[in-house]
Amino acid sequence: MGKTIAINAGSSTLKFKLFEMPEERVISSGTVDRIGISGSNFTIKTTDGKKVEIDQPIKNHEEAVNLLLKELLKLDIIKDYSEITGVGHRVVAGGEIFQDSALIDDKVLKQIEDLKEYAPLHNPANATGIRAFKKVLPDITSVAVFDTSFHETLPEKNYLYSIPYEYYEKYGARKYGAHGTSHQYVAGRAAKMMGKPLEELKIITLHLGAGSSITAIKDGKSFDTSMGFTPLAGITMATRSGDIDASLVVYLMQKLNITNPEDILTILNKKSGLLGLSGMSPDLRDIIDAAEKGEHRAQMAIDIFVNNIVKYIGSYATEMGGLDGIVFTAGIGENSVPMREKITSELGIFNVKLDQALNEKRGERFISAEDSAVQVMVIPTDEELAIARDVEKFKKMGD
Ligand code: ADP
Repeated sequence: MGKTIAINAGSSTLKFKLFEMPEERVISSGTVDRIGISGSNFTIKTTDGKKVEIDQPIKNHEEAVNLLLKELLKLDIIKDYSEITGVGHRVVAGGEIFQDSALIDDKVLKQIEDLKEYAPLHNPANATGIRAFKKVLPDITSVAVFDTSFHETLPEKNYLYSIPYEYYEKYGARKYGAHGTSHQYVAGRAAKMMGKPLEELKIITLHLGAGSSITAIKDGKSFDTSMGFTPLAGITMATRSGDIDASLVVYLMQKLNITNPEDILTILNKKSGLLGLSGMSPDLRDIIDAAEKGEHRAQMAIDIFVNNIVKYIGSYATEMGGLDGIVFTAGIGENSVPMREKITSELGIFNVKLDQALNEKRGERFISAEDSAVQVMVIPTDEELAIARDVEKFKKMGD
């Protein structure tokens, strides 16, 4: 079936992972950084795990794609471009249009670009990545995989805001959620680990990274999720505020003499969350170190972060009418022993019990004790693999 490349294009970055399919073997991965900015560089991992770094000006995404493909040849990772038969692009916003991944043609590309108001930082960059690949490898299976698709199953009662209904009808003002590819992937793994069909389980997935979101999965579908119209909503994140009272936005604009709404969004997206609360760092590792040294604001940031998560778990378990499993994933979820310990210690009402020794291990595993009423798991997410699998489905359809 050939090789498939999963692409995550940001405004100045392009991350990739190349898979041998259907074996799902990673042959190479890497990142092009600072595209169009001074100090561009490219890091690529070879098949035997060696890292190669290249510093050179990279003006735009097309140059990034060309450099990436050239290096794949030069480093002998592929012998010919024709070995790459599919590309999957992560796209952040799919609105209500894309309930599933889509084969990219001109119409789909235009729809992705038209959805830019829903994700101004992401969709234009995703579209640029798509165009760059189309130009260099026009004939391969090209698929868009949307962060929002998994949440298309949210019931009306969970995606509507209590604002005049016509704003939803006219302007699409509703909750779309995000990180769908990750939530779907780890929920599928969780069901396998628990030995039951996903449709029979009530699961809460905690994607805790720089961006964090929580999803309630019931009947095998996304039932509720913490991110909103954009990824700004939900729990406290590294630099995003999460949920706040909308009146505060107007109040702060007045107090800070802000006239451009973009400026207040920048504060809420880039200067808030753990960074804003602690005043020192968006990285939980730094904050934990500072809290251990007695820094009050660091401890306060941790307490708020944990409490946010616990509140969502409580409300999601209630609205699902039960809870069978909790999954920790992404940077914090996969790596932070103390955070998992703190969060689970607040879940006594659900009779959640942690196994300390399992919590300290690494990799995909249960971390709950035998007598825990809810099974708790750590499952490393793999959005790129999920993207590559979707491309494979389309390749098969084309055969
Ligand atoms: P992104 O949302 O950018 O995909 P990741 O899922 O890679 O982010 O998570 C990155 C975040 O994970 C960083 O902000 C870092 O603070 C956090 N992180 C990584 N390892 C640890 C750890 N051992 N303890 C606490 N936080 C961690």
